Amino acid sequence: MRRPFASVLSLVARMNTLILKPGKEKSLLRRHPWIYTTAVAKIEGKPASGATVVVRAADGRFLARAAFSPVSAIRARVWTFDEQEPVDHAFFKRRVTTALEYRRQMIHNTGATRLLFGEADGLPGLIVDRYQGEGAGATDQLVCQFMAAGVEAWKDAIVGALVGATGCPNVFERSDAAVREREGLPSLTGVLAGEAPPETLVTHESGVKYYVDVRRGHKTGFYVDQRDNRLLVQQQAAGRDVLNCFCYTGGFSLAALAGGAASVMSIDSSGDALAIGARNVELNGFDPARAEWRDADVFKTLRALREEGRSFDMIVLDPPKFAPSAHHVDRAARAYKDINMAGLKLLRPGGQLLTYSCSGAIDADLFQKIIAGAASDAGVEARILRRLSAGLDHPMLTSFPEGEYLKGLWLQRT
Ligand code: SAH
Repeated sequence: MRRPFASVLSLVARMNTLILKPGKEKSLLRRHPWIYTTAVAKIEGKPASGATVVVRAADGRFLARAAFSPVSAIRARVWTFDEQEPVDHAFFKRRVTTALEYRRQMIHNTGATRLLFGEADGLPGLIVDRYQGEGAGATDQLVCQFMAAGVEAWKDAIVGALVGATGCPNVFERSDAAVREREGLPSLTGVLAGEAPPETLVTHESGVKYYVDVRRGHKTGFYVDQRDNRLLVQQQAAGRDVLNCFCYTGGFSLAALAGGAASVMSIDSSGDALAIGARNVELNGFDPARAEWRDADVFKTLRALREEGRSFDMIVLDPPKFAPSAHHVDRAARAYKDINMAGLKLLRPGGQLLTYSCSGAIDADLFQKIIAGAASDAGVEARILRRLSAGLDHPMLTSFPEGEYLKGLWLQRT
């Protein structure tokens, strides 16, 4: 006997359903997009990795449509809270188009833009950066990180939507972040569409050119999130002696040189990153004599500089994530305090410190407390000129404070 179409649909819907424990619907009603394993009472059907499931409260109420993740502690991530919105090709097209339109309105004077920033753009686990060069025939490259089962399952639809909406034919995948393991997904890198990227491509930001290694560099190759902060350094650097710690490929160093810094010392423990930094100086035609690159450990070098009696007008501290999770907060706090104490002691009176944490587990208030402790223990009086954050292409949802990872303080030693 043939089933009526509607009852087939309802059967399919019933097959892939997560039913939450009583009370566990609260965070979803506040539009928080994650469903933890511990919140799930029952799974109906046998959803595959990345399959769309309907999420229901214990009383059967519809809450959301979400992507199922069989291995992760985050069992599902919400695609939509709208019962009328199906998750199909058109859904991904809409999400991509909306994200792109926002960047078109808000992001200017740069070739390096975050087009999609995961949850904040309604696509949990997906990061897409675009690198463009200047002039005809210049670089146009998308670099994607698929970091959750849902976006992994919809990869083809997403890549198609991206190519269609941007007109950029070249898409490279850098799904080699450690979080993939927690999703039960293999590490993947390679071309998803168009041409393979060159060894290093050239992009630009605030009038400065940068080489970017999208194949092997950190994240998608460049710290797009620090754009506004690099511009701040560019505006403040004239005539100053600048120290850039954890410089990677020299983002802040180049900004300082572009702003007319008298000298810039840059420290990083990655020789490959430093080599690109030095090439960036050449690419922009800046005086290499004003730029010193040190392949060294920042913790040790800060102490050594103090012993040498060195001092600076402006210091940037942009370390890697010291606290990968909440378990590491205490140790991370000590590390942040350590480098900030050392940095503050190297500042001349009136000098400026730009200090950052990209640890999601350390919020802005805790970070400020750590810095206050560092100043106090260093015996230095400092004032906060401004709180700093990532650029407008990294927005965060009010319902998802976890999305705020980069926080910074612009300080002045009095
Ligand atoms: N400020 C950079 C991004 C920094 S990423 C920018 O805007 O582009 C963090 C950098 O810290 C990485 O390049 C890494 O190689 C470096 N690093 C990590 N631990 C270090 C240490 N102990 N000493 C020196 N560099 C370190």
